[in-house]
Amino acid sequence: MGPMTTLRGRFAPSPTGALHAGNLRTALVAWLQARSSGGEFVLRFEDLDRLTSSPQWEQHQAGDLAALGLDWDGPPQRHSDRFDLYDAAERRLRDLDVLYPCFCTRREIAEAASAPHGPMGRYPGTCRHLDTAGRQRLAAGGRPPAWRLRAGDAEVTVRDRLHGEVTGVADDIVVRRNDGVPAYNLAVVVDDAEQDISDVVRGDDLLTITPSQAHLGDLLGYVRRTYLHVPLVVGADGQRLAKRHGAITRDQLAGRGCSDVRLRDLLAASLGLIGDGEHAELAELVDRFDVARLTTSPWVFDISTVTDLSGSA
Ligand SMILES: [Zn+2]
Repeated sequence: MGPMTTLRGRFAPSPTGALHAGNLRTALVAWLQARSSGGEFVLRFEDLDRLTSSPQWEQHQAGDLAALGLDWDGPPQRHSDRFDLYDAAERRLRDLDVLYPCFCTRREIAEAASAPHGPMGRYPGTCRHLDTAGRQRLAAGGRPPAWRLRAGDAEVTVRDRLHGEVTGVADDIVVRRNDGVPAYNLAVVVDDAEQDISDVVRGDDLLTITPSQAHLGDLLGYVRRTYLHVPLVVGADGQRLAKRHGAITRDQLAGRGCSDVRLRDLLAASLGLIGDGEHAELAELVDRFDVARLTTSPWVFDISTVTDLSGSA
């Protein structure tokens, strides 16, 4: 893979429902970052969960982005079209002898992780040192294993345009789920590399897993990406934006009289690009976009406090 000269960004939602204001804000940041530097922008649907993902939600989400004026280069990509790439990456990891079977249930991991002196959301390492006899005994129970990466507590530092240098200890992340489906962490690392994404913009709930993903990418020989983890959006109660906060999707906001232009202006104001109540054309936002205006504090979104919902366009 040659040096990446053009910034290439992406927005990668799961097509499992309507995008809410926080998702749309992340999409706007990713798009503005790409376009303001003359770069490219990829739309990727992360649809590993076939039961909850649907083409209807893909269309709906693409429509939401288009309504805000956001466009993308090439047809949308899909995890589900790329399983052969994930299989190939997993084979490389097997060749490196860095995978091991994990027989733990979700509950066992949660219990171990919440125990006193537990590993704080990390895999507790239960299956890491199983010998052949131990593996055979657990396999005989009939439950197929997931496959985890032996990360060896590697300390990894990634570069984030908002958070600076972020250092973490790589976790033993799952690369193949026990139902046989490639794990999200493998799919996202492979896709970001194979699609030549130079800059990953996403919600900061993924900041803590990022060193683990970067470590996985290192093992696969990928060039490191640069990150921008956008702060959480919360409701008036300070809790992560969710259905119970009322009008949070574009459709719901439209039902409250909030036009697409006004919604985009609200998002732009939250990014420090315009003042509250101001309007800017999309091209102006491209000109003004500056990561330095972003803050690491959460954005409080509460449409009931917004006046002048119709916008000026
Ligand atoms: Zn285990």
